[in-house]
Amino acid sequence: MSSYEKSPLMGQMMGKPMLISSLIEHADRYFGKNEIVSRRVEGDIHRYNYSECHKRSKQLANAFAKLGVKLGDRIATLAWNGYRHLEAYYAVSGSGAVLHTINPRLHPEQIAYIANHAEDQYLLFDMTFLPIVQAIVAHCPGIKGYIMMCDQDKLPTDGKIPNLMAYEDLIEANSDDFAWPVFDENSASSLCYTSGTTGNPKGALYSHRSTILHSYGSSLPDGLNVSARDSVLPVVPMFHVNAWGLPYSAPLNGAKLVFPGPHLDGKSLYELFEQEKVTFSAGVPTVWLGLLTYVAQNNLKFSTFKRTVIGGSACPPAMMKTLRHTYGVEVVHAWGMTEMSPLGTAGTLMAKHADLAEEEKQAILQKQGHVLYGVDMKIVDDAGQELPWDGKTYGNLLVKGPWIINSYYKNEGGDVLEDGWFPTGDVATIDTDGYMQITDRSKDVVKSGGEWIGTIDLENVAVSHPAILQAACIGVFHPKWDERPLLLAVKKPGAEVSREELLQFFDGKVAKWWLPDDVVFIESLPLGATGKILKNKLREQFKEYKLPTA
Ligand code: AMP
Repeated sequence: MSSYEKSPLMGQMMGKPMLISSLIEHADRYFGKNEIVSRRVEGDIHRYNYSECHKRSKQLANAFAKLGVKLGDRIATLAWNGYRHLEAYYAVSGSGAVLHTINPRLHPEQIAYIANHAEDQYLLFDMTFLPIVQAIVAHCPGIKGYIMMCDQDKLPTDGKIPNLMAYEDLIEANSDDFAWPVFDENSASSLCYTSGTTGNPKGALYSHRSTILHSYGSSLPDGLNVSARDSVLPVVPMFHVNAWGLPYSAPLNGAKLVFPGPHLDGKSLYELFEQEKVTFSAGVPTVWLGLLTYVAQNNLKFSTFKRTVIGGSACPPAMMKTLRHTYGVEVVHAWGMTEMSPLGTAGTLMAKHADLAEEEKQAILQKQGHVLYGVDMKIVDDAGQELPWDGKTYGNLLVKGPWIINSYYKNEGGDVLEDGWFPTGDVATIDTDGYMQITDRSKDVVKSGGEWIGTIDLENVAVSHPAILQAACIGVFHPKWDERPLLLAVKKPGAEVSREELLQFFDGKVAKWWLPDDVVFIESLPLGATGKILKNKLREQFKEYKLPTA
């Protein structure tokens, strides 16, 4: 937030603040009958609509008021994608409190650290996460009470969790007569901690204004493009950057919402896609891997699924091609960060590309895409000098815009902006048409003889080999070049390929000096809490690895 010069002639428009509560009010009033379907932790399917969701959100808001929750208080959730979590999204932020979504895949020690750092007052959790709550309860003295998202009869009776309440009791005991408070749109609305592969996680504290602007911006046709004709299944969790804003943009547009709960395996997802006529979805590449394997093994097709956004890490071109050509699903490759609410760019074609050959179209779609209006970006060298947009020169990617943080929560890490721009930590090229392509995380780049080798390109080539399921490339010590690329690859079940064959497969696909110096086949790759490959773990594991060329 900054203060700007005031014109002597101000516009004469209503100063209605942009508040998150207005999204659910809008969905209730104009799309009230549109459905929200959830596969519950309990195992069954729950079905209701936006009007009922609004009603229960207001009942929950009344419950929070009775518990003494005030503007700015942090309320945490440990929950899957589901209708109760959605109600909490609106009841908490709508009341003026701050929704702190915690990633349950983090280690309990980290969860306790985050809850204490955020000074959470209450914690809502799905039954599945009872063991996590039991593990952290003694370490979180600031949490005044715990709300298990279930009926009374499911509550544990051992008394180990102080002030434990059943969510459905709170709903039942409270009326839906509640007027959403009106306050400054710059008030904090929600809090997400970055996955932080090194050091303690840091919080991105969003505001009502930034969330509404992001909901508008991400809904644009070249962004998520969700409409009242869509049935939207967010695979991306509501505990990871608010499921890329879909719990806000779906009600804004009146789209049907379909929540998979904890059932993210290929079979469960496929069944839900078909039963609920899902047209649009969003998730990280690793979840599509499971779904596509299931669909291929069982010789299935999607009957309504038309479009998906893939991001969070680079979408391998081979996966994009399979979705586009084998299943007729349009893939929008998107890029963003927790610090960016998260959407920054999305890749779609322009009118002038209509007559391009398929391979040329694919080459554009593989990039992370164009900024959405609201985000501005540039690439700079290490001295901060802006670099040209020629599609070849790569540099540090910086961004700015109203849904990008200006500092971390509690000013952790101090001043993070460089001249008003947020340094993303990503390395990218931008072409003459403004399409951005990430070549690497700056920490993951292989620095060979002073030149940089982007590992994403090498991994994309590896996974386009028919025998390779997943791949990660890391830099390992080399006495002459400082670092050279080592490829770690996971074979598809039953598939065979030798080290030499895989290396030969790179011929002509990348510059000769980019070729990995060696390949090691491993059983699986370590994944972090948001489904990304943990390269720091791999670097640690292969620290002493001796390359054959060394
Ligand atoms: P997070 O804050 O956990 O969402 O992580 C953000 C980081 O994920 C970005 O800075 C990128 O390094 C990476 N990322 C997100 N989307 C993509 C993408 N489409 N391609 C490559 N990297 C991505």
